[in-house]
Amino acid sequence: MPTKEFKAESKKLLDMMIHSIYSQKEIFLREIISNSSDAIDKIYYKALADTSLNFNKDDYYIQITADKKNRTLTVSDTGIGMTQDELENNLGTIAQSGSFNFKHANDAKDGHDIIGQFGVGFYSAFMVADKVTVMTKALGSDQAYKWESSGADGYTIDPCEKDSIGTDVILKLKEDTDDEKYSEFLEEYKLKAIIKKYSDFIRYPIKMEVTVYKPKKDNEKETEETKEIQTVNSMVPIWRKNKNELKDEDYENFYTEKHYGYDKPLDYLNIQVDGTVRYHAILYIPENIPFDYYSKDYEKGLELYSGGVLIMEKCAELLPDYFSFVKGLVDSEDISLNISREILQHDRKLQLIAKNINHKIQKQLEKLLKEDREKYEKFFKAFGRQLKYGCYMDYGAHKDELQDLLLFYSSTEKKNVTLDEYVSRMPADQKYIYYAVGQSNEKIEKLPQTELVADKGYEILYFTDDVDEFAIKMLHAYKEKEFKSVSSSDLGLENDEEKKETKAEDEANKDLFGKMKEILSDKVKDVRASKRLKTHPVCFATEGEVSIEMEKVLNQVPNNQQVKADKILEINTHHNVFKALKAAFDLNDEKKVSLYTNLLYNQALMVEGLQVQDPVAFANDICKLMN
Ligand code: ADP
Repeated sequence: MPTKEFKAESKKLLDMMIHSIYSQKEIFLREIISNSSDAIDKIYYKALADTSLNFNKDDYYIQITADKKNRTLTVSDTGIGMTQDELENNLGTIAQSGSFNFKHANDAKDGHDIIGQFGVGFYSAFMVADKVTVMTKALGSDQAYKWESSGADGYTIDPCEKDSIGTDVILKLKEDTDDEKYSEFLEEYKLKAIIKKYSDFIRYPIKMEVTVYKPKKDNEKETEETKEIQTVNSMVPIWRKNKNELKDEDYENFYTEKHYGYDKPLDYLNIQVDGTVRYHAILYIPENIPFDYYSKDYEKGLELYSGGVLIMEKCAELLPDYFSFVKGLVDSEDISLNISREILQHDRKLQLIAKNINHKIQKQLEKLLKEDREKYEKFFKAFGRQLKYGCYMDYGAHKDELQDLLLFYSSTEKKNVTLDEYVSRMPADQKYIYYAVGQSNEKIEKLPQTELVADKGYEILYFTDDVDEFAIKMLHAYKEKEFKSVSSSDLGLENDEEKKETKAEDEANKDLFGKMKEILSDKVKDVRASKRLKTHPVCFATEGEVSIEMEKVLNQVPNNQQVKADKILEINTHHNVFKALKAAFDLNDEKKVSLYTNLLYNQALMVEGLQVQDPVAFANDICKLMN
C-alpha cells in the first residue's frame, strides 16, 4: 500500500512529538498501556454480554517485551483490536481524540504545554521511537493489519499475519544521544518503575519477563539467575487499599491515569463509609479550571462502580452544580450492577451517597480554608464563582452550607476576606455589611458612592463578579447583619440630627430638584441632596431590589425583558457646580439649568460605567459650556 499522509492537524502534533524536548518522555508507556486497557475493557464488556465468546478472565492481559538486540519495545494486548478502517481513522488522525484542542496546539512551540494540558495518547510514542508499528486483529475479523510509520512522512497500512485477536504496538527506539538514553526503556528496572508509577491500578495484569534468583536445584545454598513472566502491577484499585498505605503521589498518579485532568489535583478526599449505605469514594479538587468548564460542553459527574465494575462514567446525580468541578469515583456494592439510568436517578441509596459526599466536600473545603489559606485562595480563584452560583441557585436553598466558603476583596484589609472575618471586625455602631459593585477593584475604589462609608472607617466588600450581588441578595444577611450596597439610597449612617439636616436641604432646594426631575422625566425616580458625596458633584443611588449593576447584568441576557433600577440622582449641594446650577435657577435661566442637569445626569451615568444614551448631544452640551 502506498504511503498516506497524516491529516494536517495530526502532522503538526506529530512534529511536536518528534522534536519534543519534554522531559518526562517516559509517559509514552502510560499512554500506550492505557489504550490497551481501554481495548480490553471493550472486549471484556462484549464478553460479559455474549456467552459465545467463552469469557475467561485469564485471557485478558497486557504484555511488555523488550528486545535489546533489535532495540524494540513491544506492548501487546488481548483487547478488541482494530479493523482496517479503524486503524485508518484512529491512528491517521488525532482529531478523533476529543481531548485535543487545536487552538492551544498552535500556541505551543515545543509540545510541552500540550502534553502538560491535554495528554496526547498514541502519538507520544514518537517521543522515544523513530518507527512505530501496530499489528492488530479485530474481534470478528479473519484478517490482521499492520500500520507503520516513521513519523511525519506518513504511514502505511497492509494486511499481515497475526494469530490472536488484539494489538501489538512495536516501538523501534531512537538512537541514544548525549542527553537522552532511550535504551533505558529496554531495561527491566526502568520499565518496572514506570509501570508501577503510572499504571499500577490498571485492572488487567501487565506481564513482563523479569529476572529472578532461585536456589539451584542441585545445590540449594547457591542461587541462579532465571527469567520468569511476572505481573508487575498490583491491580488493586486505589480505593480498596488501606488509607495508611497511600501516599500523595499515589493519589496524584491515579488522577493522571484516570485522565481526570492534566493538572495536579489541588486536594483529594478518600472516603470509606460503612453505614446504612456502604461505599468508597476518591474525590479530587482540580488545581486548574478545565478548559471547557464554563462552556455548555462541560459535563459534571463522578464515575460510578458497583463492586469494582464500572457502571456509569459520569453519574451527574452524585454532584450538585456548585460542586461540579469535583472529579473522581464512587464504588458501592449497594448499588445494583444492572440498574438502569432512569431508576438510578430515583435510587434512595444513591441519593444518600450524594448527600453524604456533598457534606464531605463542604467540610473539606472549610478545612482547607482554615488550614491552608493560600491553597484555598487558589481554589477560590478557579471555582469561587461556582460557589456563588450555588448560593443563588434553587432560591438560596444551599446558602447555609456555602456562605462560609465565600471570599470577597476588602477595602480595608486589601485582600480577600470571609464574611465571618468581616462581621467579627465590625465596630459596635455599624449596622450593615457594606459592599460596592463594579468591574474591578481599581474601578470600585474610585466610585464616589464609597466615599462616605469609607470616611466612617467602615470596611467595604468589593463585588467584581456578575453573580456576586445576586448571591448576596439571596443570603440577605449574615449572622443577622444585613447587606447594604454603598449605592443604596439609605445607607443607615445618619443619626436623627443628620437626617433632619438632609431633609431641610431637600426642602430648601425643592423647586430646583423638582425642575431637574421634570427635565430628566422618567430617567430618574428622584433628585435629592447627597450626604454621601464628599468631593464628587453627583452620583446615582438606588432604591428597591434592582441595583444598577444588576440592571447591567440582566440586560446583557438576550431576550430578557429590560429591567430598570430605580435611580436617584444625588447632588453634592456643597460643590461649586451645584452653586452655579442654583444661581442659574435663581436667575430663571432655563436653558442653563437644563444644560447643567443633563450634564450632571450623563456624568453620573459614566461614573457607573453605563452608556450615555445620546453621546452627540452630550458632546454638544460640553461645547456649549466651553463657549
Ligand atoms: P485517545 O486514547 O485519547 O482516544 P489515542 O491517540 O491514544 O487517543 O488513540 C486513538 C484511538 O486509537 C483510540 O481511541 C482507540 O480507538 C484506538 N487505539 C489505540 N490503541 C489501541 C489498542 N491497543 N487497541 C485498540 N484500539 C486502540
